[in-house]
Amino acid sequence: MKKFAVIGNPIEHSLSPTIHTLFAQEQGEVIDYKKLLSTKNTFQEDIKLFFDNEGIGMNVTIPFKDNAYLISDENDKSSILCKSANTLFKKDNKIKSYNTDGDGLLNDFDKNSIDVENKKILVIGAGGAAKSILTTLCNRKPNSVHILNRTKNKIPIILDNIKTNTTINIYEEGMNFDLIINTTSISMINSEIIFPKNIFMNDSISYDLFYSKQKTKFQLWSEESGAKEAYNGLGMLIEQAALSYEIWNNYKPDTTHIKKSLGF
Ligand code: NAP
Repeated sequence: MKKFAVIGNPIEHSLSPTIHTLFAQEQGEVIDYKKLLSTKNTFQEDIKLFFDNEGIGMNVTIPFKDNAYLISDENDKSSILCKSANTLFKKDNKIKSYNTDGDGLLNDFDKNSIDVENKKILVIGAGGAAKSILTTLCNRKPNSVHILNRTKNKIPIILDNIKTNTTINIYEEGMNFDLIINTTSISMINSEIIFPKNIFMNDSISYDLFYSKQKTKFQLWSEESGAKEAYNGLGMLIEQAALSYEIWNNYKPDTTHIKKSLGF
């Protein structure tokens, strides 16, 4: 049986094993996809052990995406652009890193007819998720990209760590946007939302990278604040998983029915 895993901390909540097993069923394969709980001190050894024991591919989640990029033997352009990886693949005895988060987000935008081209975009947050999506967003020819973060001095750090030809500007009070993407953990930790409501216009769309069965805190806040439509990140999770699956198995799974199969 082909061996895969997702590594992170915490990891118990991860839907990745279920999603990848559904992809494999569609392809007519049976796979062994495990959850691996790791720590900062054991991460490198845990990866080595997995691949030494005939592991084929691994997904990497919070908080190890930057480490995964650094410890890989080779890096695909998708991970080089953001110095962070969510997918590892062992081929020809080398571990290669990829980042499918950014393209996963864009694929979900396409599925929901959310346009980026010529749109004014606001990315809220300056953590790992923001780093993973900013370069791919910029490649879609937006009108402008602004960034807003609670801790302002983290913005130059993230901008120094990504490679793009598009200028990313810092949000200023009074600006409003066509598309507002929440990459913060506000919904996950159920924290009070401190961002200005006047970032929304009548036809603004909001997208929260966090997902839950009910509408997320940021989805509800966006609707209250005037967004025309508010999405959550389940579609992105499924699409980034499909891209990882394709890297490992050279097979593009159909993502259409996965949300329903997951009970969402
Ligand atoms: P991270 O690196 O820890 O970054 C957290 C971000 O949230 C920082 O910008 C932080 O701001 C901000 N933040 C935290 N608490 C806040 C508060 N109370 N008010 C305002 N801002 C706050 O985390 P991450 O890896 O980027 O992940 C962020 C979220 O994205 C998580 O909910 C995760 O589940 C989700 N995610 C989803 C997918 C998917 O496939 N759908 C993929 C990746 C991540 P400061 O800099 O001020 O601390």
